[in-house]
Amino acid sequence: MASKQNDNSNLEKSYGYVWDKYRGKELEDLFAFSEGYKDFISKCKTERECVAEFISLAQKNGYRDLATLIEQGQPLKAGDKVYASNAGKTLALFNIGSQAMEKGLRIIGAHVDSPRLDLKQNPLYEDSGLALFKTHYYGGVKKYQWVTLPLAIHGVVIKKDGTLVDIVIGEDEDDPVVGVTDLLIHLASDQMDKKLSNAIEGEDLNISIGSIPVDGKEEKDRVKKNILRLLHEKYDITEEDFVSAELEIVPAGRARDYGLDRSMVMGYGHDDRVCAYTAFEALMNIENPDKTCVALMVDKEEIGSVGATGMTSRFFENTVAEIMNLLGDYSGLKLRRSLAKSKMLSGDVSAAFDPNFPSVMESRNSAYLGKGLAFNKYTGVRGKSGSNDANPEFIAQLRAIMEKHHVTWQTAELGKVDQGGGGTIAYILAEYGMDVIDCGVPLLNMHAPWEVASKADIYETMKGYRAFLQEA
Ligand code: MN
Ligand code: MN
Repeated sequence: MASKQNDNSNLEKSYGYVWDKYRGKELEDLFAFSEGYKDFISKCKTERECVAEFISLAQKNGYRDLATLIEQGQPLKAGDKVYASNAGKTLALFNIGSQAMEKGLRIIGAHVDSPRLDLKQNPLYEDSGLALFKTHYYGGVKKYQWVTLPLAIHGVVIKKDGTLVDIVIGEDEDDPVVGVTDLLIHLASDQMDKKLSNAIEGEDLNISIGSIPVDGKEEKDRVKKNILRLLHEKYDITEEDFVSAELEIVPAGRARDYGLDRSMVMGYGHDDRVCAYTAFEALMNIENPDKTCVALMVDKEEIGSVGATGMTSRFFENTVAEIMNLLGDYSGLKLRRSLAKSKMLSGDVSAAFDPNFPSVMESRNSAYLGKGLAFNKYTGVRGKSGSNDANPEFIAQLRAIMEKHHVTWQTAELGKVDQGGGGTIAYILAEYGMDVIDCGVPLLNMHAPWEVASKADIYETMKGYRAFLQEA
């Protein structure tokens, strides 16, 4: 443990920089952990891709599909490991403990959806020699950040007969990329006078995807027709199939080391795949727990946790009921007790103090890069409104657990009072009466196409999550 440092931050509550603590093999482990994480976020840029990858990794660790077990009426017992997927976009993984589920669960819940541009239902059109896609942005984005970047297309098209076509374009070195154009500076005098919020409008986020016309000068929309021809050749899809597609436009390319000292990772979708990945890794390192341990990765957090795959759906509650049933220990009352007695870390990113923008932060209550797992007692806006405000008894327990496991941690507040705000899934699980607190990795550039996280914080978050699953 490093010595306490003296500045105006909240360091006295933690052990200082994570970096002060590790040497030799431990430092190598810290860096190695981020290599696995970089591979994960480089490959998994949609909720479906994240869930599919987690399932594949979990199966290698002995996790079985709950849906199959239910179908076969196979009983479960302590020590069993199962997963349940909701539409391939939300995932719950359970390591079943020796104690009855009604004693409560230990849950880490994160989300695997990230801000992006979604294709509209009728996306494809041609204008002035270019073929383009119309988009509708998903989640909180600063629209001006999405122009002139190499973008990739990830997602699925479901054909009328139910066939699922997987599409990833823009990630291989040899793949083409797509993008949103911006106005040249020479002609931008009107644009430059606009407010940042409307310099690029939502309806301007159109993706350029081609410029070669098919033969036949008398025909209309020849460039669009050529794109349709290419899509049909490669994926056997037609224009109508876009209606039942889920295609997401995301930054193209791999996550990379950031900083001359390689201390950070720049990547797309740290929010919140960094907490999903660390939660997953923490759970995979748990064997024979006393309380049932859960990692939950949900969809739709960035648009309010709504919908069938969002946290507000009954999926998680129903899954817990199914597991209790296969354990031969289900009743409505036991299910309620199980959820009420559970403890949860709502794994989500928080804002790291940015020296370029100090005026929006309150330095004594801000998270800092490299100072470890950040606990966010409350979020919300205007007087904590809409926030889960964690109980101090729970926080005290977490302090003791983190100390026992030598986890470097800090506290976080999302900016100055009345500066803005945000929320997570914490308040939804809190409705059962369980103890919940937000905690995760502090970020720079949150919600930008390329976000930045400290490798030290990523590693420490995994350790903190693991300690919670072992002890809470
Ligand atoms: Mn988030
Ligand atoms: Mn977010």
